[in-house]
Amino acid sequence: MLAIVGCQPTAQDISPTRLLDASQISGARAFEDVRQLVAITPRHSGTEGAERAAKHLQGALTPFTDNCRIDSFEDETPVGPLTFRNVIGMQTGRGSDIIILASHYDTKAGIADDFQGANDSGSSSGLLIELARVLRGQPPLPFQVMFALFDGEECIKAYGEEDGLHGSRQLVRQLRERNALSNVKAMILLDMVGDKDLTITLPRNVDRKLMSMAFRAAREAGIRKKFTLSKNTILDDHVPFVEAGVPAINLIDFQHGSRHGLNDYWHTENDTLEHISADSLQSVGEVVIHMLNALATE
Ligand SMILES: [Zn+2]
Repeated sequence: MLAIVGCQPTAQDISPTRLLDASQISGARAFEDVRQLVAITPRHSGTEGAERAAKHLQGALTPFTDNCRIDSFEDETPVGPLTFRNVIGMQTGRGSDIIILASHYDTKAGIADDFQGANDSGSSSGLLIELARVLRGQPPLPFQVMFALFDGEECIKAYGEEDGLHGSRQLVRQLRERNALSNVKAMILLDMVGDKDLTITLPRNVDRKLMSMAFRAAREAGIRKKFTLSKNTILDDHVPFVEAGVPAINLIDFQHGSRHGLNDYWHTENDTLEHISADSLQSVGEVVIHMLNALATE
């Protein structure tokens, strides 16, 4: 009897890598996470709102991660040194490889006292929380998943060594100090992913393999038509990773506007909840799950 049982394949032998179930993503729950974050306004770097936003995000991620910390650091800016806070949540998995899922949560300064930044930066931050929630309920992956919510993506004057991308540059520095950069198998950045008229405009300066993977994942999620390849590169939080040799991609819809193809809501008071949708959050969330499946089985 024992011998017979011993010959039975174990569940693990039958399916060494069980696939994640993309249908578990709820755009409605993600939208609620966005709503809660964008109620904290203004939240540009160095403000009391930014600190509250960091604490809120830490509280939201903690139930779905093995540990979630706020990394506070000071960095030079054109208006003097400011305190920035990255929110970093980890889900442990099998092995030492790391997949980073990232978003920024700060908003552009100087737009309005009640500026929501619902698409830029609420949408991607809310979706990251939903992704953490969904991944928590599924089988462990063959890698660790790091949820990185960056402060200081937006520049104050013009992007440069002391302006903008503060949070992502800080995480690259930390990973380099820990000799962990080579463990990062992929960095998937989400930015402006909630537009009702979703059109992902993949920039040129991303990893080629991840680009192909993203298009395949979009097909699997049934939204291939909403994925386009931009003619341009874009300076965003994936760039410090690209420069450090980490495979990175930016799932961004850089057309947030009053008509298809326009970006006239971006960095204006019109970037509000009424211009984003649960459906778009759902679609992009499903794409990320399909990409994780591809990364888990390659
Ligand atoms: Zn922005």
